[in-house]
Parts: sequence; structure tokens; C-alpha cells
Amino acid sequence: MPTMGALHEGHLALIKRARKECAIVVVSVFVNPLQFGAHEDLERYPRPFDEDVSTLRKANVDAVFSPTPSEMYPPPALTSVYVSALSKTLEGKTRPTHFKGVTTVVAKLFNIVRPDRAYFGEKDYQQLIVVKRMTRDLNFPVEIACVPTAREKSGLALSSRNAYLNGKERKDAALIYAALSAVRKAYETGVADIKTLQRLMRDVLKKGKTLKLDYIAFVDKRTLGRRKNANGDTRVLIACYAGKTRLIDTMALAEE
Ligand code: AMP
Repeated sequence: MPTMGALHEGHLALIKRARKECAIVVVSVFVNPLQFGAHEDLERYPRPFDEDVSTLRKANVDAVFSPTPSEMYPPPALTSVYVSALSKTLEGKTRPTHFKGVTTVVAKLFNIVRPDRAYFGEKDYQQLIVVKRMTRDLNFPVEIACVPTAREKSGLALSSRNAYLNGKERKDAALIYAALSAVRKAYETGVADIKTLQRLMRDVLKKGKTLKLDYIAFVDKRTLGRRKNANGDTRVLIACYAGKTRLIDTMALAEE
């Protein structure tokens, strides 16, 4: 199970699933420089390593893999893995090198750890789809498992980046889940027009003064292709700033 550390209940949900389904559970803790853009938060990303190790010990994990950047990428590292098309849209628009960093590190982790199964969170939905595609295209003998998003009571999806939020931003950030829930409810009562659903979400998000929307996208849950009208295979993906912190979340419009 690949992680960047600063572990929270979301990571633990993945570990619990893995613990239930697998004989041996290996967790990597590696803040992967390749997946951060030049002006992103690589330096200030939280690294509470000792705390993480004690969390992993309590969670009964068998092994922790935590290489340094130069151990992971002995210079000159010239090879990368890039899933074209799927890495360019949505998150890829604002973060053009992000998924190349993700797929490169995940491919390396698969080769180093040799898992039968790897667990990824639904919250980072595009990442899940990109990793699934890489696994298939490159014939990795690894099954990709998806674990539902763990949330705070307020609905806010747990994320290591939530540590950056102040009180007001944290409160506003809960509106992201409120907006997703409103759209799902509207779909369940028969609204399928994307423009109407988008407007509904924007109206909810407007209540949060510290929020700045990056994108709302209604996509096919397998291809990430944009939809004009919602159906049972549609997912809504959202990226939104709360103050300076960029948060992402997602919801299926129908039970999956
Ligand atoms: P990260 O440490 O942010 O790279 O996340 C490591 C893994 O945990 C990824 O597969 C994430 O999708 C997953 N994850 C992070 N937050 C959550 C959450 N709130 N619920 C479920 N999975 C999560």
C-alpha cells in the first residue's frame, strides 16, 4: 500500500481492508518528489515519521518501506512511466507532471515489493483510474483494490493536507461534501442535466467564503470522459481551494 505518510483514518481504512484480505501487508511511506509541481508543497508536506511507524505497528502491518529520495531515484534516473491522455485531464490540467510522478513511483514500488494486491483510495479517483490503466497496459500481476473515502463527521474527506486548514477553512471545506451530496440527491430525484447539477453544486459552495473552485467534472467512472447528461455510470469529481490548500473529492451518482 503506497502512502506519503502523515497517516490518518483514511490510510487506516486501506490498511484494515488489506489486513483482512492479505497474509502480509507492506506499507510504503515516501513523500515522492516526482509527483509535486515546482510551486507545490513538497517542502512543507507533513512528515511525522516516528508517529507513522507507531501507527503502523499498532495496525499490525508486517513491513514498512521508507526509502530516501536518492535511494528511490539513484541519479541519473532516466526512466519514467506515463499514462497518456488519462494523466492530462482534470488534475493533470493544473498539475501536468503529477501523474507521471505517481505512475513512476507506483511502478517502482510494484517491482520492489511485488504485491499480489495493492490498495488505493477512492478519494483520489483519477489516480485510481490511472494506476489501474498502467497496471493493465504494462501487465503488472497486481490486482488494484479501491477503498471508499473515509470522512470526518462533517463530511470532509480525510487528507494529510487538511492539516494546513485553519478553523474557517475547515468549516468551509465541509461544504464540498455537502455539494456532492446535494448533487447525488438531485440525481436520485431525476435531475440528469449536468448544467443544472453543476449550478446546484456551485450554489452550495458559494456559502464558503474561503473556497475557490478549480473544477467540477461529471465523468464516466471508467474512462473519465466528460458527460453531457448524468447516468448510473457517472461520477462527479471536484477540486477546490480552501484558502491556499487544494482539496479534491468525488462521489458516484449511483450506488456502485
Ligand atoms: P497519500 O498518502 O495521500 O498518497 O494516500 C495514500 C493512499 O491513501 C491513496 O491511495 C489515497 O487515495 C488513500 N487515501 C487518502 N485519503 C483517504 C481517505 N480519506 N479515504 C480513503 N483513502 C484515502
